[in-house]
Amino acid sequence: MQIYKFGGASLKKAEALKTIIDIISDKKDLVIVVSAIDKTTNKLEKLVDAYLNNEPLKLEIFEKIKSFHINFAKSAFGVKYNEFEIGITNIFNQLKEILDLPSNTSYDEVYDSIACYGELLSSYILSTYLNINGVENSLVDIRNIIVTDSNFRDAKILWEESKALIKNKFLDNNKIYITQGFIGRDKFGKNTSLGREGSDYTASGLAYLLDAECVVIWKDVPGIMNADPSICNFAEKLDYLSFREAIELAFYGAKVIHPKTIKPLENKNIPLYVNSFVDYKKKGTEVKKIDYKLDLIPIYIFKANQILLSVSPKDFSFVVEENISKLFALFTQYKIKVNITQNSAISFSAAIDGNNRNFDKLIEDLSKEYFVKYNTDLQLVTIRYYTDDSIVKMTSGKRILLEQRSRTTARFVLQ
Ligand code: ASP
Ligand code: MG
Repeated sequence: MQIYKFGGASLKKAEALKTIIDIISDKKDLVIVVSAIDKTTNKLEKLVDAYLNNEPLKLEIFEKIKSFHINFAKSAFGVKYNEFEIGITNIFNQLKEILDLPSNTSYDEVYDSIACYGELLSSYILSTYLNINGVENSLVDIRNIIVTDSNFRDAKILWEESKALIKNKFLDNNKIYITQGFIGRDKFGKNTSLGREGSDYTASGLAYLLDAECVVIWKDVPGIMNADPSICNFAEKLDYLSFREAIELAFYGAKVIHPKTIKPLENKNIPLYVNSFVDYKKKGTEVKKIDYKLDLIPIYIFKANQILLSVSPKDFSFVVEENISKLFALFTQYKIKVNITQNSAISFSAAIDGNNRNFDKLIEDLSKEYFVKYNTDLQLVTIRYYTDDSIVKMTSGKRILLEQRSRTTARFVLQ
């Protein structure tokens, strides 16, 4: 069995569905994981905010998402649209029911109850499209299989519980199955999500649970590149990566794979292919177990919209274990993603993602015991396998606010 994952960026237009048929041509014993079409999850995030703030805008956003999907389905299904319209309308009716009732739970929980609709829609549309075009398949609701913890918006897969549920599913090896990425359900039956871009993690989780032969992630880039090709004209594809290296890259913020994707694959030694959705016949990047040292060119990872936060204890106590654990407890409490840290005797600095809705609360809390300073709108650049040239290339003409180098990795917070 193989697991294919198609991401939202590959599914911007209904024509893209034809490419999926070409890619899967006469495959069997295949599970296809899809994420939401195009930027649907972003739109659903706006819907969550409008819903919780009780804005009249709520209905407008809802209608926009609805008409986008209806138009997409119309051009995908053609003359058969009327026959399958009911399937789409049903999904929107369920979503509308949530929106019509007041919320009585946390932001994160509401988020997951709404964000899951992107994948419910895309999987329904893909499955229907394939059936209409003679590619028989079964649509599986992944929430009946993937059990997660209740850490809404960043849930982890519970392996034992999911294993028990997957037992009698995906059994027919003459078949193609379609299912949703990104979402699951906790033990109490509530919808959860695995974190933004989490469909990759679903694909690798399924591979792990089903002992799949491989995972293929089809992307709008030629494979895993040594830099983001939309920013750097020198970006090159990497042919091979070890699991270890891929974990490092994902951890530093390489957007091409979700950080949680690699571990399940590494555990069972299941190779991952990151291939181009456009040039689907070309070889992409192969991520597998590699014991020897790969000779890699410098790899650049950019994280934009960073805030460099610097704190020092008002009581002049040293920034050692106690203070550090206090700070990290606050970061955890407010779900702040810390990307790099540095400390001296009485100061601690961290670059954190700039889009956190709890940032103001964090600053308020920190200010009780610490002097706090911060700069916004910075960039964090990580260079794996850095050379002198590569450092000049990234930093020249920029103000360096923080710098760290190890044997293989150089990191800079830049203005
Ligand atoms: N649709 C979700 C997101 O946009 C999950 C994914 O794309 O993997 O974050
Ligand atoms: Mg996506």
